[in-house]
Amino acid sequence: MEKIKCLIIGSGPAGYTAAIYASRAGLSPVLYEGLQPGGQLTTTSEIENFPGYPNGINGLEMMEDLKKQALRFGADIRSGIATGCDLSQSPHKIIIDGEKTIETETLIICTGASAKYLGIPDEVQYAGRGVSACAVCDGFFYRKKTVAVVGGGDSACEEAVYLAGLAEKVYLIVRKDRLRAAQIMQDKVLNHPKIEVLFNTNTVGLFGEKAVEGVHLARHAGAPQEEKFDLAVDGFFLAIGHTPNSAVFKKYLKLDDAGYILTQGRSAQTDVPGVFAAGDVADPHYRQAITAAGSGCIAAMEAERYLANR
Ligand code: NDP
Repeated sequence: MEKIKCLIIGSGPAGYTAAIYASRAGLSPVLYEGLQPGGQLTTTSEIENFPGYPNGINGLEMMEDLKKQALRFGADIRSGIATGCDLSQSPHKIIIDGEKTIETETLIICTGASAKYLGIPDEVQYAGRGVSACAVCDGFFYRKKTVAVVGGGDSACEEAVYLAGLAEKVYLIVRKDRLRAAQIMQDKVLNHPKIEVLFNTNTVGLFGEKAVEGVHLARHAGAPQEEKFDLAVDGFFLAIGHTPNSAVFKKYLKLDDAGYILTQGRSAQTDVPGVFAAGDVADPHYRQAITAAGSGCIAAMEAERYLANR
């Protein structure tokens, strides 16, 4: 069994920042990249709000830079996912890819969050055939076509604007009578000539012979003025929020009702000594690259202090 001082799970801004700080503190961290190396930002087009990039930066590029920076200080970065754990006693045991066990004195969980789906059967039926939760990954297939995006937050608006750069027409399906995205994003969407926002509208189902050819919608669903209608679309994109990737650890750690790992006050400390959580897996509020990076730094500094004080 491999025995180490510091194990980091996840490779978004939180994971890589934790790796940079833990390496520089002499903890010789091992980082497993997880299911999506580089995390969610690798599926973002342009990051415009990370300080230090006055002209914005491509998400993939930024994650590659963070990885290079962690490698430069000696972090041991590996591919693999955490599939099990035993956090009942220290050192903690983590199972990687169902086969390898690592015993670690400190654990920093940075497993992020994954896109939510509506939960309608048609999403499964048309998975990979017109249904996507990542505009940057799949938008290319919809050049000069018509697509729909579901959601009214920053992600949905960002995806709608990105897709409008490729597609002929973008419908934004919003269940309420308003968007909840930042004002600047709302303005971009509402003033975009290729984007049409359908407020008070819910998705009922999808149709199409082999792939998605359209979406069944209901305006004012459940109300007396309910109005059902269909839209012909070639692609259907979900942008309705995320679920934290905490399932592997839930037996041992306190989570909130939505599954986010609970940390103590402003720290990254979970309720198990020596186990820290950073980034989106522990953050239902801010979920920004910059806050994830900040919490990764906090987690690594606390891991170092925990080891020093023992
Ligand atoms: P949000 O939780 O902010 O928004 C989710 C949206 O999806 C809401 O409009 C919500 O509707 C809608 N929704 C949820 N469930 C359903 C459903 N079943 N059917 C239809 N609509 C549904 O998630 P985001 O992913 O947009 O953003 C998460 C966080 O990340 C936010 O804090 C956001 O500010 C941040 N973010 C920031 C970015 C940036 O600064 N560049 C980019 C992307 C995200 P309702 O309003 O009715 O609840």
